[in-house]
Amino acid sequence: MKLDVETLRYLSKDDFRVLTAVEMGMRNHEIVPTELVDRIACLKHGGTYKVLKNLLKHKLLHHDSSKYDGFRLTYLGYDFLAIKTLVNRGVFTAVGRQIGVGKESDIFEVATEDGTVLAMKLHRLGRTSFRAVKSKRDYLRHRTSYSWLYLSRLAALKEFAFMKALEEHEFPVPKAVDCNRHCVVMSLVQGYSLVQVKQLENPDVVFETIIGLVIRLAEHGLIHCDFNEFNIMIDDNEMVTMIDFPQMVSVSHRNAQMYFDRDVECIFKFFRKRFNLSFHEEKEAIDQSELDEDESGWPCFSSISKSAGFLDKELAASGFTRKDQDDLEKFVEGKAEQDVGSDEEELVDEGHVFDGQDGANIRSLSFLRLEDQNEQAVVSHDDIDVDESSLQAFVNDANGDVGGENKKEKEVDGEITNENENDAELAKRLNKQRRQAVAAARGRRRALSARNSYKDKGGKSSQNAKIQKQLACW
Ligand code: ADP
Ligand code: MG
Repeated sequence: MKLDVETLRYLSKDDFRVLTAVEMGMRNHEIVPTELVDRIACLKHGGTYKVLKNLLKHKLLHHDSSKYDGFRLTYLGYDFLAIKTLVNRGVFTAVGRQIGVGKESDIFEVATEDGTVLAMKLHRLGRTSFRAVKSKRDYLRHRTSYSWLYLSRLAALKEFAFMKALEEHEFPVPKAVDCNRHCVVMSLVQGYSLVQVKQLENPDVVFETIIGLVIRLAEHGLIHCDFNEFNIMIDDNEMVTMIDFPQMVSVSHRNAQMYFDRDVECIFKFFRKRFNLSFHEEKEAIDQSELDEDESGWPCFSSISKSAGFLDKELAASGFTRKDQDDLEKFVEGKAEQDVGSDEEELVDEGHVFDGQDGANIRSLSFLRLEDQNEQAVVSHDDIDVDESSLQAFVNDANGDVGGENKKEKEVDGEITNENENDAELAKRLNKQRRQAVAAARGRRRALSARNSYKDKGGKSSQNAKIQKQLACW
């Protein structure tokens, strides 16, 4: 997926406000009714409808009118919200080019104020699942767009938490810098994915290091679950860094042995094929109860002294809860059982293997500087993360009065124009809704489109103020 951050420069404070309103509405609407977006965003002069048109044009939103007029965020819209928040926090100031693409993520270079280049991973759960194996996967059937955003956010949170915890226990992982929504920022690994490496000076040493990592992870109570040549980076000194942690499970998981063996097998297979390492016996021939490792070096899961829960404290400290883990596991597990060996085919088929070396050269980058953009767009250093319960209460209780005060003010500043013939119908509708909103603000009638049948129930909510406060920073 393309990430055209150029657009980010031109987005105004109001654009982000409306984008955020859609995000908030998506917590309990697959498609957020246009009217609800308007009420959450609470822009003056019925401005929401004009902004919606602009966001649609830039593909940050998707419009759906099958049940009622409404919008949902696209991944690009979600990307922009995360990037904006991280830029506002001062985590980075520029986005560079794409340096990697995983099955369910896109990785970009970003640069900090002082020119340090970091890696930004945008999680995109559901991307390949939809494309490749949709029909086979029951567990995906009832996923809504919001679930994908939610799962991607969980995946990012989990990856961030695990990376931090592993780093604290001196595992060779990238340094976790920050996380927002579905986006993780980490240090840039100088090196290449093992899959790109054709020759090694000391393949046995690298092999042993890698198998040693699988064992040490298990001793710390963890199994990587996707430990293969795509998720191991190696530098010019043949030092190893492991990446990609959203699918990790505990050694107490009911399929732990299977996941462990699968990780080990991937490594054996790869080193056998690529570097001609020979292992004397196949795993099946070994009586594992008697040996920690067989003659070929195959580690035995049951004889590793594992300490489950070892990293629990660190994980909890990063905000990754047991419920998050359960939610994510339901999804990842279904995938894990079907994904064995699919990595290589998919990436190679699509020509998606990136040359890691290019990525390390900052001088070759044409960064998009974000800090100098439109002043309005960088007004606040506050995060816009929203308290779930306030939104729930808001959506349940809000009535048509939300923001009425603000809307009293008058003046329609120009109609939404129609640049694309196909959008004619939508533009017309947005214009109509906009006029109605303005009229409603003037107290003539309520801003309800005849076509838009969506209505909130309940009375005025004290939560409205909270929501408006949260949005105030935009
Ligand atoms: P996925 O979960 O989608 O498989 P990964 O985390 O494995 O995503 O990243 C995909 C690719 O992006 C990796 O194979 C690697 O080439 C590159 N990559 C990921 N993280 C980094 C990083 N911190 N530094 C440099 N390259 C990275
Ligand atoms: Mg990967």
